Amino acid sequence: MPIYEYQCAACGKRTEAFHRSLGSAKRPPCEHCGSAKTARALSRFATPKSDAQVMEQYGTPDPGAGPDAYKDPRQIGRWAEQRFDEMGVEMPAEAKQMIDAARSGELPDPVKDL
Ligand SMILES: [Zn+2]
Repeated sequence: MPIYEYQCAACGKRTEAFHRSLGSAKRPPCEHCGSAKTARALSRFATPKSDAQVMEQYGTPDPGAGPDAYKDPRQIGRWAEQRFDEMGVEMPAEAKQMIDAARSGELPDPVKDL
């Protein structure tokens, strides 16, 4: 069953509506203020992250490091360092320790599971 979201033009809040089929889509009134000025909004559930968005969020691997960059212990935390560098901020000591530990093979548990 498709779930649609409708954005209210009056109050800006979203109303979720369930439809039995794609053909029966009918705009519901805003459940927050009752306004009929609602418009289809892209559903959060129906928009998986694109590669570009993932890159944007997690940073890009070093060019030339190859597709295994993330698996190479020496590359761990590299983008994080670059991010902090770009922002002109010093990386927190805990983050640095974790990265150092990871590079020397002591992967934190969540990373081991990859
Ligand atoms: Zn509204």
